[in-house]
Amino acid sequence: MKELFSVVTVEEAQELVSRALPDTWLPTEEAELLSAFGRRLAADIHAPEDLPPFSRSTVDGYAVRARDTFGATESMPGFLTRSGEVEMGQAAGLTLQAGSAVWIPTGGMLPPGADAVVMVEYTEDVGGGLITVNRPVTVGENIIARGEDCAAGQLVLAEGTRLRPAEIGLLAGLGFTRVRVAALARVGIISTGDEIVPPGETPAPGQIRDINTYALAAQVSESGGVPVCYGIVKDVAAELARVLDKALAETDLVLISGGSSVGVRDMTAEVLGQGKPGVLFHGLAIRPGKPTLGALIDGKPVIGLPGHPASAMVVFHALVAPLLAWGSYSRARAKAEFPLQAVLTQSLASGPGREDYVRVKLVQEGENILAVPVLGKSGLVSTLVEADGMLRIPLSKEGLNGGSPVKVGKL
Ligand code: AMP
Ligand code: MG
Repeated sequence: MKELFSVVTVEEAQELVSRALPDTWLPTEEAELLSAFGRRLAADIHAPEDLPPFSRSTVDGYAVRARDTFGATESMPGFLTRSGEVEMGQAAGLTLQAGSAVWIPTGGMLPPGADAVVMVEYTEDVGGGLITVNRPVTVGENIIARGEDCAAGQLVLAEGTRLRPAEIGLLAGLGFTRVRVAALARVGIISTGDEIVPPGETPAPGQIRDINTYALAAQVSESGGVPVCYGIVKDVAAELARVLDKALAETDLVLISGGSSVGVRDMTAEVLGQGKPGVLFHGLAIRPGKPTLGALIDGKPVIGLPGHPASAMVVFHALVAPLLAWGSYSRARAKAEFPLQAVLTQSLASGPGREDYVRVKLVQEGENILAVPVLGKSGLVSTLVEADGMLRIPLSKEGLNGGSPVKVGKL
């Protein structure tokens, strides 16, 4: 009999991996702005200049001195001298004098001397070089001031930021065409089991097709990594050790599915135990997914996932996805997620000292979203196909009552 599990919580498991993980785990690289989309900045970005580089109008209208419009109303409009106009894409080229107004298009450069813009709707060209203004403006109204988006020298994006479309746009606005980002994590995927055959083969009696390689590879892609598949390995320690060595040499993180428990055909713990520093934990306080192994070998994390497809995918969510998406668990935890608020349709029990990940189907009912548990064995992949999301029953709770509010995360 091999040694029994001494389980750790998901948080403890993350802590153990974090502490073992070298700072230099993922290399960094320069990327063209568009290929940096979805990736993490590897260095702080400071604004090299003011954005916008000059004060601009946000409306079509007249650039004015705000104080020249004070007291203007529809019945008692103010009169201003119309003195020239600002051309789009050109320097303002003239200075606004007291008592005058300069025509300015949306995005045009505010002329020196002006401190506000009156929308054209509140003016009238009454001829004779005069306009009327029938509503006052305050200083700064209808203007984006120079440096209002960001000021030169300001820290605009911190190292570790994931580049969404808005960040890509800001970088373009500041003149960056290349940025330093964390390299995409290459994730080796090994499936194990004497009974597993590739999906293209017809299984003989007793054999089943490989689900995990494909489901996990898709999860890796979805989380911002690059899957590298190493195929199916028999339950032979030396075989697994050989393929693991190759995967460790070629990738940044390795996932091994199957063989992670303590049975006689379960080789993963033995093989990971041969590495340096080796196994960090064996057993996770989570359901499904208890027989999970975490190791660090040659500076790279190796996660031994349970063979049951639903368990493997749930553990991927808990341990692998945050690391791929954020490069570190602490960064992932600092980011609030936006899970859906839903109402649980039935009571659920959970053992003490264990986190339960319950797959749920979401149904809109009037104003409410109902979370309907999809119950079923973790060996059934169809439970995941049927589910829209997952809810977590924390360690401290022994269950949830039907009708209670729950937060559902994406699956
Ligand atoms: P194990 O963790 O190796 O004991 O496997 C647990 C269950 O998951 C067994 O029924 C295996 O046949 C099944 N299983 C293991 N690996 C895979 C895989 N790659 N695809 C589908 N099922 C698997
Ligand atoms: Mg197996």
